[in-house]
Amino acid sequence: MKESFSQGQDALLETVINKGLCVTCGACVDLCPYFTYVDGRVIVMDRCRAGEGRCFRWCPQAPWKTETPDTRGREEREGIGPFIAVFASRSRDPEKRASAQNGGVVTALMELALECGVVESVIVTGRGDGGSPMGERIDSSGRISAVSGSRYTASAALAALNRAEKEGVQGIGVIGVPCQMAALERRGRYLAEKGLKDPVLLRIGLFCTWALDYRRLSAYLAQKGLKGPLKKADIPPPPTEVFRVSTAAGAFEYPLPEIRALIQKGCSVCRDMTALHGDISVGAFEGREGWNTVIIRTESGKALFDQAVEKGKVESEPFPEENLHGLNRAALGKKKRGAEAYRQMIGEENGE
Ligand SMILES: Cc1cc2nc3c(=O)[nH]c(=O)nc-3n(C[C@H](O)[C@H](O)[C@H](O)COP(=O)(O)OP(=O)(O)OC[C@H]3O[C@@H](n4cnc5c(N)ncnc54)[C@H](O)[C@@H]3O)c2cc1C
Ligand code: SF4
Ligand code: SF4
Repeated sequence: MKESFSQGQDALLETVINKGLCVTCGACVDLCPYFTYVDGRVIVMDRCRAGEGRCFRWCPQAPWKTETPDTRGREEREGIGPFIAVFASRSRDPEKRASAQNGGVVTALMELALECGVVESVIVTGRGDGGSPMGERIDSSGRISAVSGSRYTASAALAALNRAEKEGVQGIGVIGVPCQMAALERRGRYLAEKGLKDPVLLRIGLFCTWALDYRRLSAYLAQKGLKGPLKKADIPPPPTEVFRVSTAAGAFEYPLPEIRALIQKGCSVCRDMTALHGDISVGAFEGREGWNTVIIRTESGKALFDQAVEKGKVESEPFPEENLHGLNRAALGKKKRGAEAYRQMIGEENGE
């Protein structure tokens, strides 16, 4: 790859956007007038000649110094990274579980964080009923469950954080996929370097293997005759190999290999499956429907989770060691595949 001396929009275009590696996290969107988000895509509105820009510095896909989380006092496994503890957990509220993606732990934790004043606002990914899923800011705990469930397309949700920051909002919690957690980490470091206060106080990361390109998924579903907004999407555990969606008209299944062809290109170089930069990382508990795997990574994450258990918001059990091995293996596999895909891409650019 050609050495890029700029750390501004030029560098972002050269190293990320023009290579098709943008993963639509939203960290550069609505920061300035030059980037916007339309119908599932990040659009560059105009050129900016600044030699340094937050867009480049915050982008999780941009080449920058690798941040290594501080592992003091925490156990570390190569794939899932540093942690304090890992649990099997689920919300104690059956109604909330019914509308959640898995066990509803993410919804329960952010509701509690708002109720107890740990945060004053939360950035979430909305349902996208009128189009592509997008970031939203929620200020009341009663509204968090309205966005529960996973949208399998990328959402540029961090644009809502940029807008909140412009309005001077403090005490923010963010829910997002690993690339969004990585963007928050870069953002936090940048703000610290500049002597500025980071309004983000709590990060709940979701496990992620890939996310789909919204426009390509919409075109695919339209071609299959599917109409109306998706109420739920899910990938049942192997060996089913289907992508299951439900709309007002019912439930439908599509072959997973066809769906995998719609993955964002940038996800192929992603090395993080378990949100290394979350205070808490949450995924499905493979093989135990309606439960979550919860990785507690920081003291603030631990304080919130302990409180959720004490107040009866979630139930938790020790995470079986064999499942932890399996999770670590899967995360390591993604790390290796992502690193190999990146090496290959750079090699091809250099004519190797
Ligand atoms: C694109 C994607 C891929 C995933 N891949 C895996 C995987 O391979 N393995 C695995 O174990 N888990 C995966 N997950 C996580 C899983 O789907 C659940 O989000 C997680 O287990 C938490 O479940 P829950 O019941 O606690 O969530 P809920 O309580 O239902 O809360 C879900 C939260 O997810 C947020 N959200 C929804 N869609 C998006 C989106 N597109 N981007 C960012 N945030 C969003 C919402 O803001 C909501 O607050 C993925 C999630 C996404 C969004
Ligand atoms: S990955 Fe995120 S920060 Fe980077 S270009 Fe895409 S939306 Fe912007
Ligand atoms: S695979 Fe990685 S880059 Fe793609 S959406 Fe998930 S976390 Fe982001």
